[in-house]
Amino acid sequence: MTKTKRVYTFGDKKAEGKAQMKNLLGGKGANLAEMNLIGIPVPPGFTITTDVCAEYNKLGREKTIALLKEEVEQAVKYVETIIGGKFGNSENPCLLSVRSGARASMPGMMDTVLNLGLNDEVVEGLIKKTNNPRFVWDSYRRFIMMYGDVVMGIKYMGHDEDPFEVIIEELKHAKHIENDADLTTEDLKELVVRFKKTVKENTGKEFPSDAWEQLWGGVVAVFESWNNPRAEYYRMMHNIPAEWGTAVNVQAMVYGNMGKSSATGVAFTRDAGTGENLFNGEYLVDAQGEDVVAGIRTPQQITKEGSVRWAALAGVTELERKNKFPSLEECMPEIYKELFDIQNKLERHYKDMQDIEFTVQEGKLWMLQTRNGKRTGAAMVKIAMDMMKEGLIDEKTAILRCDPNKLDELLHPVFDKNAIQKANVLAKGLPASPGAATGQIVFFADDAEVWGNQGKPVLLVRIETSPEDLKGMNLAKGILTARGGMTSHAAVVARGMGKCCVSGAGALKISYKDKTLTIDGKVYKEGDWFSLNGSTGEVYEGKIGTKTPELSGDFGEIMVLANKYTKMDVRTNADSPHDARVARNFGAKGIGLCRTEHMFFEGNRIKAMREMILAKDETGRRKGLNKLLPMQRSDFEGIFEAMEGLPVTIRLLDPPLHEFVPHEEKNQKEMADELGVSVADVKMAVDSLHEFNPMLGHRGCRLGNTYPEITEMQARAIIEAAMNLKKKGIKAFPEIMIPLTGTLEEMKMQELIVRDTANKVFAEYNDKIDYQVGTMMEIPRACLIADKIAESAEFFSFGTNDLTQMTFGYSRDDAGKFLEVYLQKGILKQDPFQILDQEGVGQLIEMGIKRGRITKNNLKVGICGEHGGEPSSVEFCHKVGMNYVSCSPFRVPIARLAAAQAAIKESK
Ligand code: PEP
Ligand code: MG
Repeated sequence: MTKTKRVYTFGDKKAEGKAQMKNLLGGKGANLAEMNLIGIPVPPGFTITTDVCAEYNKLGREKTIALLKEEVEQAVKYVETIIGGKFGNSENPCLLSVRSGARASMPGMMDTVLNLGLNDEVVEGLIKKTNNPRFVWDSYRRFIMMYGDVVMGIKYMGHDEDPFEVIIEELKHAKHIENDADLTTEDLKELVVRFKKTVKENTGKEFPSDAWEQLWGGVVAVFESWNNPRAEYYRMMHNIPAEWGTAVNVQAMVYGNMGKSSATGVAFTRDAGTGENLFNGEYLVDAQGEDVVAGIRTPQQITKEGSVRWAALAGVTELERKNKFPSLEECMPEIYKELFDIQNKLERHYKDMQDIEFTVQEGKLWMLQTRNGKRTGAAMVKIAMDMMKEGLIDEKTAILRCDPNKLDELLHPVFDKNAIQKANVLAKGLPASPGAATGQIVFFADDAEVWGNQGKPVLLVRIETSPEDLKGMNLAKGILTARGGMTSHAAVVARGMGKCCVSGAGALKISYKDKTLTIDGKVYKEGDWFSLNGSTGEVYEGKIGTKTPELSGDFGEIMVLANKYTKMDVRTNADSPHDARVARNFGAKGIGLCRTEHMFFEGNRIKAMREMILAKDETGRRKGLNKLLPMQRSDFEGIFEAMEGLPVTIRLLDPPLHEFVPHEEKNQKEMADELGVSVADVKMAVDSLHEFNPMLGHRGCRLGNTYPEITEMQARAIIEAAMNLKKKGIKAFPEIMIPLTGTLEEMKMQELIVRDTANKVFAEYNDKIDYQVGTMMEIPRACLIADKIAESAEFFSFGTNDLTQMTFGYSRDDAGKFLEVYLQKGILKQDPFQILDQEGVGQLIEMGIKRGRITKNNLKVGICGEHGGEPSSVEFCHKVGMNYVSCSPFRVPIARLAAAQAAIKESK
């Protein structure tokens, strides 16, 4: 048996791994290996595989270390040879970093420990080697803080505040110092002593001085962090399976904090917010990586162009910019050139926008990471289209590059132009993540979560955010921070979520204690309304109206491209001319479901509807229906007109009748007065409509078969509407859809009523139109006998809401009570009402289509349940040979892209 390889080394332009090994080495590990292979300078190191994470979860610490020991020791030797130092040796020390790295990038969700291998002796050796005592003591105190927090868990041991931060603040206060940078070497030494003491007090253990103990502690902590609550939440949000595990990357340390010729930074090969083809990013001189993203110091721009743009936004003069905030391009021109060439090489190599991290140690550039950069929906589309035009990727790849769900962001409202002109700009920050948001301000992520869950629109306002704030950020409409740049935690996470964010708005003075925000002396409280423009960085007072964005440019182009490859049409579910027009603008090729019942609730209609429902006999019902006829007809005329030339599927009345009658006494009295009957009569009639399982009761075609006059009225309204439009030269293609059929007989009976009625109308008008009669497929039995149903039905439309309900036996209206628990416990992987259950419900659909097409080989088939706009379900619909999917107007572009992707994936 071959021995399992658990550790893969890289360094000095050689590597045991490569980019394609993401599953085993994690994204970071695979790319570190790949960068070596293409000749990019990367600090040497090794990756412990994601499989070991699974082993760790099963076997625990000691057994996992035993499995790894030999390979890790050899790998450390490999690093030592390249670097020319020794791990744990005080004469010629080599320090290591430990970082997580899963298959999918999970920024900031898991743990990192830097400077492993430091202790009191190594500190002395390192001072000799670097001749830089301040740097060494600074690294030592940072190491104790990080290790104490990540490995020894001190921050979470019942403290409200980080005990290390408290110690720093105490010392700064005693010394009358404001900035960490003003701490002297002696101060840093003092911090080390106090930090170690607090470690002992909090954990009862000495801070470990043995380098190997430190290393194993770091490795184990990374594995442990795979299961921390924020990582679990992130996985849930992004559908990342728990089985994947994280890899561990151990690397020789390089330092950006060794003085003025050292720096550290983060960059993107293109703009992650807008997609503009412009290298951009931020850096800090004499700093460590986390300083750039933590928002503690205001980072500087990498390119001069970026720097000038930033200064304009931040209101910084050119003179001040040049002196205080120069770009890397101006400050370290040689390094900048090297970095520019590397980012170019990386983008050409990976053929995608890269998010890179680098460190400059005393004039030498090292790359620490490259990965496909997270981006907003707008940037996603622009980058895909630009790269296609540049010849970097082909059309199919451009389509596959775009995540259909992210298109959603492009469809969301922007500020109303008129409203924004009158608005008062309170402050300006950086345009960290585009879009518009308006809401009530809260200062804690927990509050954002509570308020958000209550359905209140909130803006989360923080000095800076951290990974612990993730849940609250997700529930907020927008994020505003006082500190931090374009690559701060808030900015990166918000862009990933497609959420509006303004970062680094320096004019904000936030008091967490009082839950207030002060701008120019004016105090705002929790709950006050603010508005944010994430595209310009502007912060407004009050609530500002929003409107739907225009769809043109790259978005329009990718949609045209999608049409070229798609095999399915996308229709919309719409009940009004307005919705029909919106959907048509988004490219809908017709209506797949018009639910007629919604029309009965408006204005006077509900009265006529109730009159019909509560009538004692057919004559009474017809009286009510006669009142409804003209209203329905004019509704249909409006919808047909909006969808001129395209098919419109209209479903006949479906819900149980009790949904239309009043249940409260006050409303029953009102109705009795209107109808001129007694309240007791109304009450009795309402009670008689009560059903134990209304979803399985008197609804769907059972209504039309027991009260044929309802079907007659609706069929007449539809056909007359189409005939009236024909007179005006407008083409309508009605498809009349019978809901909830389960037997051929009930379908046939409905078909007969519709056709009889249509023939009568044709005779009255002395003219004709084309129309079809088909059915919803939403009862499992209908799928089983689909060959029979197709004898009568001219088309099938899968109503997967009801089909899911009846296949699982989960009530659509009551499943909320247990679904969440089922999802948490892993009994269900996904909510079957949102994502089609391909395994079970999917079989019925497949069977329904196959059997239906045995009878009619050209049978038109679509879907109109909620799943019709969900990308993975759309792919399934393509695979089983549907002609179209139908979804709500705002999901039409999502479905169009998903349908094109499905066709492309199949052709590959
Ligand atoms: C369905 O059941 O999938 C459907 C579209 O109909 P409704 O949601 O109106 O029951
Ligand atoms: Mg239904």
